[in-house]
Amino acid sequence: MNRFKWYEAKSVEDALEQVNSTVSNEVASRTGNAAVFKAGGTDLLDLMKEGLVEPKTIVHIGNIPGMREITADLDESVRIGANVTLAEIEEHAYIRDRYLALHQAVASAATPQLRNMATIGGNLAQRTRCWYFRSIDHKCLRKGGDTCFARRGENENHAIMNNGTCVSVHASSVSTALMAFDAEVIITDGKGEEKRVPMEEFFVSPGEDATTENILRANEIITGVYLPPVKDSRKSYYIKQGPRKSYDWSIADVAVVMEMQGSKCTEARVVLGAAAPTPLRSRPAERTLTGKQVSASVAVEAATAAMERARPLSQNAYKIPLFEAIIREAIMEIV
Ligand SMILES: Cc1cc2nc3c(=O)[nH]c(=O)nc-3n(C[C@H](O)[C@H](O)[C@H](O)COP(=O)(O)OP(=O)(O)OC[C@H]3O[C@@H](n4cnc5c(N)ncnc54)[C@H](O)[C@@H]3O)c2cc1C
Repeated sequence: MNRFKWYEAKSVEDALEQVNSTVSNEVASRTGNAAVFKAGGTDLLDLMKEGLVEPKTIVHIGNIPGMREITADLDESVRIGANVTLAEIEEHAYIRDRYLALHQAVASAATPQLRNMATIGGNLAQRTRCWYFRSIDHKCLRKGGDTCFARRGENENHAIMNNGTCVSVHASSVSTALMAFDAEVIITDGKGEEKRVPMEEFFVSPGEDATTENILRANEIITGVYLPPVKDSRKSYYIKQGPRKSYDWSIADVAVVMEMQGSKCTEARVVLGAAAPTPLRSRPAERTLTGKQVSASVAVEAATAAMERARPLSQNAYKIPLFEAIIREAIMEIV
């Protein structure tokens, strides 16, 4: 790992004055002159140890006052500060009661030790775990190269949908649940008002730009996540399948949120994680559920619809029945 300077940011504005690059930009351009944000460090330090980024300065944002709070507003919406850890979200009673799928997603991410360090802001901005991206020897599309090595290589964990360019999947399984609750990422450049960006617009597909996974620019910081209020009639469930029960990232995960009138679903969100390079709303599954009395056969229909557009690679066709099973199960857990 390279030697670096440490800067302890005192405020959001102070942090933004120090930083001059995103980790994504630096991985692709390797100026060797970057000053980048560090929150918990669980992804940044891996990237440094892998030799993929060698920042000149680390701007530590973990002690900025006011960024580590979970607050409910009068309209019952919730703001999670960017520096709140996954463990703190997991333990929050209001989130467990109202946003069950989010509680389940954070509780099944990584390990208890990692969840004590990992922040929600860093979780959204973490880089993919594709092994070719993580290998210094492979200058893949995500590092500004012109080849996706996984396409014809080892691709068992990779994308089965939207896999026309880079076939990596996004590493954040927490985002699967956030997207299902229509969460928004709160971002500021420290000058004007904060902006709130819907999760679907926060992530960038490799077709648009493979060298980054989100819209964040070097002069911007995530200050929090906004969760719209949920009524008692909005039910949710999340399931993650990893290679192991703990420690590993997802190979398939799903969050289902349904507005229920008795056993009838009046509105649905079905979001798939580790299916595509970004967390992905399955509108075919949502359409199948909306307006129906939800039963085991409707759950089968929705799961089948969700996989209609799957185009597996040489080693990951197993993900199709896996997704179908967890989608069915998540729907049936709600009704
Ligand atoms: C073994 C292992 C298993 C894991 N399993 C899962 C899993 O199952 N599901 C899952 O979702 N995640 C998983 N993770 C990922 C983990 O949750 C993330 O590494 C963590 O959330 C990142 O947060 P951090 O605070 O440590 O970020 P850091 O490492 O500090 O930062 C990560 C990136 O975000 C940027 N950044 C940090 N904060 C901000 C901010 N406020 N604004 C703008 N940019 C920012 C940094 O510059 C850096 O690029 C796993 C990690 C490990 C090591």
